[in-house]
Amino acid sequence: MSFVGRHWVPAFAGTTGARVKTPRGFVTGHALPAVVPASALVFAFRDGKLLVSGSRDRDEGTPPRLPTWGEAAALGLDGAAHFLGQLDICDCVALRLPNDAPEPAGWRYAGLRSLFFALSEPLLALAGRASQIVEWDRTHRYCGACATPTRDKPGERAKECPACGLVAYPRVSPAMMVLVTRGREMLLARAHRFPQAMFSALAGFVEPGESIEDCVHREVREEVGVEIGEPVYFDSQPWPFPHSLMIAYTAEYAGGDIRLEDAEIAEARWFMPDALPDLPSPVSIARRLIDATAARLRDDDRRSA
Ligand SMILES: [Zn+2]
Repeated sequence: MSFVGRHWVPAFAGTTGARVKTPRGFVTGHALPAVVPASALVFAFRDGKLLVSGSRDRDEGTPPRLPTWGEAAALGLDGAAHFLGQLDICDCVALRLPNDAPEPAGWRYAGLRSLFFALSEPLLALAGRASQIVEWDRTHRYCGACATPTRDKPGERAKECPACGLVAYPRVSPAMMVLVTRGREMLLARAHRFPQAMFSALAGFVEPGESIEDCVHREVREEVGVEIGEPVYFDSQPWPFPHSLMIAYTAEYAGGDIRLEDAEIAEARWFMPDALPDLPSPVSIARRLIDATAARLRDDDRRSA
């Protein structure tokens, strides 16, 4: 998925989403231990890509793994380290490598999307978390107010300016997704950038001053011109491209005809749950929202039959 302008575009061409939620057994932390155990897992990023085992040409189909702290040291990897926490009892560390860091033999830098079905879900989720911390570290090296170099603030995940005291926390951008229903029908839209015939739920970023629900109402109005009732929460999912949090809802249609006002949307239509178009990948939050709603509508149907 990616955003185009201020709108969420679940562009699943070649990639899919996954459940990148906090893994069971993970305890978050921010204070790097004085001595990091050699067995700690390292999420080392160079220019947005994660260091994993394997070479570029071979090892297709061999599941990649992450280096340990001991291996990273042996490989001469050095950069800004941020403690993520513990997965079960294993320390997890994010490492921001310089852009000219070498690619050691037997290792490669891989884009997160390419790892979606290669890494286990817990590691993928932590890699998403690590990538956001590393990106925050990269983009907050100087104070946004007075341009003084910042330093890590003790006691929390924050950077502070030693000159003016400005504190910067990792940035998370909330976005909403909504599946509008009208009786047994679901409103699905196709953005210009979607692969061919794929339709999905509506989505967009929250604007300053809005509640999530305000955003749901506004985006539906802007994108398809219809009014809805109160949004009903479905689920949420972090999305590390680069720092989004998707919050998904359903909402019942309340009035108006479909009127595409948004340059992003190519087509929007009402679909019956048994006659759906091509949908996003089954592991995306969009697809889970659509599948769960379709199942509910079919159940309603059976009950009323
Ligand atoms: Zn400052």
